[in-house]
Amino acid sequence: MKVKRVLIVGTGIGGATAAVTLARQGLDVHCIDVKSERPTAGAGICLLHNTMRALKTIGLDEPCLESGMSFAVFREFDGAGRLLHTHPAPPSCGIRRPELARILETAAQESGAVLEKGLTVQALTDRGDCVEVQFSDGRQASYDLVVAADGVYSGMRKRVFGTSFEPRFAGQSVWRFNAPRPAEADGFCLYRTPTGKVVGIFPTSRESCYMFYLESSKEPLRIAEDRSHELIRERLAEFDAPAIRDALDLITNSSQVIFRPLDITLVPTPWHRGRVMLLGDSAHAPTPQMTSGAGMAVEDALVLAECLASSDSVGEALTAYDSRRFERVKRIYDASLQLCLNEQEDPVSNKDRSAALLLETYQYLGQPI
Ligand SMILES: Cc1cc2nc3c(=O)[nH]c(=O)nc-3n(C[C@H](O)[C@H](O)[C@H](O)COP(=O)(O)OP(=O)(O)OC[C@H]3O[C@@H](n4cnc5c(N)ncnc54)[C@H](O)[C@@H]3O)c2cc1C
Repeated sequence: MKVKRVLIVGTGIGGATAAVTLARQGLDVHCIDVKSERPTAGAGICLLHNTMRALKTIGLDEPCLESGMSFAVFREFDGAGRLLHTHPAPPSCGIRRPELARILETAAQESGAVLEKGLTVQALTDRGDCVEVQFSDGRQASYDLVVAADGVYSGMRKRVFGTSFEPRFAGQSVWRFNAPRPAEADGFCLYRTPTGKVVGIFPTSRESCYMFYLESSKEPLRIAEDRSHELIRERLAEFDAPAIRDALDLITNSSQVIFRPLDITLVPTPWHRGRVMLLGDSAHAPTPQMTSGAGMAVEDALVLAECLASSDSVGEALTAYDSRRFERVKRIYDASLQLCLNEQEDPVSNKDRSAALLLETYQYLGQPI
């Protein structure tokens, strides 16, 4: 039996993109999110060449470029802000996360998907020929396929796959904040101090940029979240770069700083149990070094739609999806983790090795999916 009715759990990047691709194929798509509102605050995100290519196939590259800012350059600075090197980089788009969410969710609704916020799955029974779902508001419905796109800490994965694939700490935490874009941040910029501290900046629109700082620790860092604005200033005290100092001067409140440990997971295939499947971070959440987690989720959504369209049964479609996605996703996951480990071990002496791996993996990303 062909799939007709789909429930997508999570209206994040992967879930909303899947809502677009599946609804446009004529499927009856219901997409829910536990959060009651679309996020209006949040950091930036880099959409690499392969992510933009995937968005172009569903006509969403232009809206991203209009709201965000394209770039194709990688600049290296020292901690004082002196430009050391400029390299070509794969054509990318930096964008604010709430803007990306707006673009994807609007497209999903315009494609005919029904999006509901403030709703989750209370109970779920796979009957073999359908999945019966009870929602948190007491409603019940039956679906041909349930897509768990509920992120790295996926409750759906735990419910259906058990606890074997719970995320693990990757040895780094990330501090992120937004700022007005300095003129020099016209591409992906890294500022390095002689002690090996690195701050990254990239544009998220013509006017805005996003800054991040990765901190290594053996155990997950516990910080006083209400002091995160003071703590980030202490950590970045050795950076004299005006771009960084000016941004820090504007950070006066802990709500402006987003702090989180990097937790990762890679679930081995099959990524489905019966008619419940994983998509995006619920199946594969890498460290952010390759700026590719969202790109992988977007690609998942495209490939899932193709597999459902070209297969005669759900099982056949999901097996085809696994085999088209796993190797590619694993390669990105492994490269990201290696870069993360290089930084933890010795960012200064591993710099060239990391640059080579980054370049090689960018090239791989350009291959067809
Ligand atoms: C520091 C950092 C920087 C990154 N930078 C980049 C980058 O530059 N480029 C890039 O491509 N990727 C980047 N990523 C990765 C990217 O953010 C993720 O891969 C991407 O968000 C995954 O999308 P997703 O839809 O699978 O999950 P998410 O975007 O996490 O969405 C999951 C959704 O599910 C909802 N949800 C959760 N639980 C439930 C539930 N029980 N019921 C219903 N809904 C639920 C959540 O509210 C959320 O809306 C970065 C990640 C990190 C941590």
